[in-house]
Amino acid sequence: MLDSHPITSGNPKDQTNTPLKFVYDFSEGNKDLKDLLGGKGANLAEMTNLGLPVPPGFTITTEACRAYLADGAEPPSLRDEVSAHLATLEATMGRRLGQEDDPLLVSVRSGAKFSMPGMMDTVLNIGLGDRSVRGLARRAAAGQPAGGEAAAERFAWDSYRRLIQMFGRTVLGVDGELFEDAIDDAKLAKGAADDLDLDAEDLRALVEVFKEIVRREAGREFPQDPREQMDLAIRAVFDSWNGDRARLYRRQERIPGDLGTAVNVCSMVFGNLGPDSGTGVAFTRDPASGHQGVYGDYLANAQGEDVVAGIRNTVPLAELEHIDPASYDQLLSIMETLENHYRDLCDIEFTIERGKLWMLQTRVGKRTAGAAFRIATQLVDQGLIDMDEALTRVNGAQLAQLMFPRFDLAALAEHGGEAKHPRIAWGIAASPGAAVGKAVFDSYTAVKWSRSGEKVILIRRETNPDDLDGMIAAEGILTSRGGKTSHAAVVARGMGKTCVCGAEELEVDTKRRRFTAPGGIVVEEGDLVSIDGSTGKVYLGRVPVVASPVVEYFEGRIRLPEQTPVAGPEAGPATAGVTGPTTGSAVDPGADQPVADELVTAVHRIMNHADAVRRLAVRANADTAEDAARARRFGAQGIGLCRTEHMFLGERRELVEQLILADGDEERAAALEALRPLQREDFRGLFRAMDGLPVTIRLLDPPLHEFLPDITDLSVRVALAEARREPQENDLRLLQAVHRLHEQNPMLGLRGVRLGLVVPGLFAMQVRAVAEAAAEHVREGGRPRAEVMIPLVGTVQELEIVREEAEAVLAEVRAATGEELEVALGTMIELPRAALTAGQIAEAADFFSFGTNDLTQTVWGFSRDDVEASFFTAYLEKGIFGVSPFETIDRDGVGALVRRAARDGRATRPDLKLGVCGEHGGDPDSVHFFHEAGLDYVSCSPFRVPVARLEAGRAALAERRAAAAVGLAAERVTTA
Ligand code: ADP
Ligand code: MG
Ligand code: MG
Repeated sequence: MLDSHPITSGNPKDQTNTPLKFVYDFSEGNKDLKDLLGGKGANLAEMTNLGLPVPPGFTITTEACRAYLADGAEPPSLRDEVSAHLATLEATMGRRLGQEDDPLLVSVRSGAKFSMPGMMDTVLNIGLGDRSVRGLARRAAAGQPAGGEAAAERFAWDSYRRLIQMFGRTVLGVDGELFEDAIDDAKLAKGAADDLDLDAEDLRALVEVFKEIVRREAGREFPQDPREQMDLAIRAVFDSWNGDRARLYRRQERIPGDLGTAVNVCSMVFGNLGPDSGTGVAFTRDPASGHQGVYGDYLANAQGEDVVAGIRNTVPLAELEHIDPASYDQLLSIMETLENHYRDLCDIEFTIERGKLWMLQTRVGKRTAGAAFRIATQLVDQGLIDMDEALTRVNGAQLAQLMFPRFDLAALAEHGGEAKHPRIAWGIAASPGAAVGKAVFDSYTAVKWSRSGEKVILIRRETNPDDLDGMIAAEGILTSRGGKTSHAAVVARGMGKTCVCGAEELEVDTKRRRFTAPGGIVVEEGDLVSIDGSTGKVYLGRVPVVASPVVEYFEGRIRLPEQTPVAGPEAGPATAGVTGPTTGSAVDPGADQPVADELVTAVHRIMNHADAVRRLAVRANADTAEDAARARRFGAQGIGLCRTEHMFLGERRELVEQLILADGDEERAAALEALRPLQREDFRGLFRAMDGLPVTIRLLDPPLHEFLPDITDLSVRVALAEARREPQENDLRLLQAVHRLHEQNPMLGLRGVRLGLVVPGLFAMQVRAVAEAAAEHVREGGRPRAEVMIPLVGTVQELEIVREEAEAVLAEVRAATGEELEVALGTMIELPRAALTAGQIAEAADFFSFGTNDLTQTVWGFSRDDVEASFFTAYLEKGIFGVSPFETIDRDGVGALVRRAARDGRATRPDLKLGVCGEHGGDPDSVHFFHEAGLDYVSCSPFRVPVARLEAGRAALAERRAAAAVGLAAERVTTA
């Protein structure tokens, strides 16, 4: 069943002209009305309809909240509707709200569509006042054994002081600590250890103190009118939607700001009536392992939040079996009912009032990433859900989390662990993983040390683009400033590198190469530190790291119980030119390999299903044979982007310098000739690793000056040499070239196809190297599938020139080698003009690959390296972006160009192959977008390949389900 109704708002009255219905009795709702009734209200209704013991009540809709927030006042009809539902409730319960001799009490509970811990808390015991508190005590004593009066008195005054406390804090805005302090004073005066030691008299006195606090702090009396209490509480829930905490939480969790919250009014049941009463929470399964069992906590003689507030020690739920066996049995049976009904792990709040069990809340419970996979397959095996459903129950973010190496929990678990590896800071978990290395405080050292085989952690106050080398070289990055969107965080996530940022307790002194942690701990360059990017914790020393078993599985180092054949995209609709996958499990591990545990088996099954249903193929961005091989083990179906500039670094830099300095055609040709065999070998390695699968090779892209020495360094060198009167001819020429090629905005300057068009022979050399490598691979019996990609094209004319040249080279190599080489020639679409003229560009292209990084930069007109540190944080805070457009594709802007270019390109050339090679290719939301836009494949970093496979499967299912829902709606219209 669907979670929301895509066609209507969910309010059945929407279709008619009758005014909106703002209040629903619990018996009128159901779990699919979360948009309207909020999660809590929808599930209270669902449990009511299942016949479970839910205290009667009603829900005020999110629409009422939205109307209130828009108009600054309750909609006129709301009061009457609330009155009518209250009257019904009173009739059901046989007493009136706040009735003096026998008060009906209610709780007023907030409940948005998504559970939001930042929202207003619930107010319990609404309806109590100075007079009805005595009525409550008398009713509680009635029928109780002798001596019950004292306990009943205590209960009534306890309930009253709770009301004033909660109402004062959440409705009247009084500082909650004032009440807490008053309770502590009362306990101190009495020498009481525990709130249960306060008797009726003490609590009655406390009520007076609380009322005085309200008078003083809120400037008004605590309201005695029960209805006024209720109305004020309802309004406070509405207002809490826009409270600071709630807004902050929504921003973090990407929850839209305009949903509003529902309000639940629920008749009270009392867990604080004595030792035969109590309150508890439970899970139908262990949210950490997924295993079925009895998980939860119980607290006797307590109300509401006491159980999680830690005021007294709770007992494990299993002990309820001895305290109240009848309620325990009933609870277990209800838990089973709920699991079978929701077909998922549920969490539960319940209260026992004098031996009678009441259900106060349930919802599909949060769980760890590992449990998500395990539970999904457990439910399949129980016959509760099918594999499609199982696939929707997990996501790429969870899979990614399971793939990071982690610190050995045993080493950190007990105090002994933390003492051996003291935690010295707790920053922001910016990019997951566990990294251990020697502290270094600048990029230069990071690079130098890592070259000599050291593992290092780069520690900075904050990073900037100049630190990129160091970040690449480091195992992990630690900063003392900046949040989840700081340069360090964003870049590290992009690289899949562990990062803890904003560890503000650390005083980082980069000049003296050390930092100071609380307690005077000083860490110097070279000291070992361990950082946990999943928790944000920083440890001194080397915490042992264990590899993720899920990665071990993808690497083929874990044996599955039975190696099931892998279903793959061949099973789905054929994708132009993309052949079958090789998933991790295709690697056949030896018999001595460890056998998969439940988690790995669950991941394996769900991945197989994703592969079977997905339409998008997944390739990897890989520049080396080693990366390519790994990507293939992870299930990549080819290379979507090989950046050849990475092959021009290192020792080859000199050859590139010669190319740039070349004086005339001959020198240039010689420099190119020297590069060609090196490139050819690079490509052969890739073809071997990706035999039978497409390999997209991008011709040289970055600005030439990136291959040249730093202008300042070089100037100094030249000046010094001149001062010594021994000028270096080569350096001088180099300096001239550097000056010539210096650009104000190099990213918008001489790069990509422009470079290819002004440096004669450069692209031809690269194409030749590709073709020769392919020919050699064929001779070795391989099946190379080369695709040559021209970057930064803005107009078809550029492409035509390069294409002509490339075809000539290919013809030559064919003639020379006698091999029938198929080499596709295509282009990147990464400039707005290319996207806008895609129909023309397709005339000269066999394929498009959307370079969404550059496209995002050029569409928005900002450069990623510059803006993330300067104004992105402000933009994210102001809500201009929900998320950085470099992380998740901007559907409305960049996405619109992608759709348009895809459509126009295919109009020109129906068999045009479409892919994406920007970093968005591994981002879950973006993968869904690319699926919807009809692309053939996404390409991402090898490590993200499994994530993209999973999300591509989920995208295909989502599309299928949406189509089914539309079909259903259409059917309803025609039959109506
Ligand atoms: P939250 O969303 O913070 O869990 P709830 O509305 O669920 O807030 O309520 C807070 C606590 O009060 C929970 O422990 C809940 O079980 C309890 N509670 C809420 N309504 C009632 C009620 N009518 N009778 C008894 N306990 C209640
Ligand atoms: Mg709750
Ligand atoms: Mg680009």
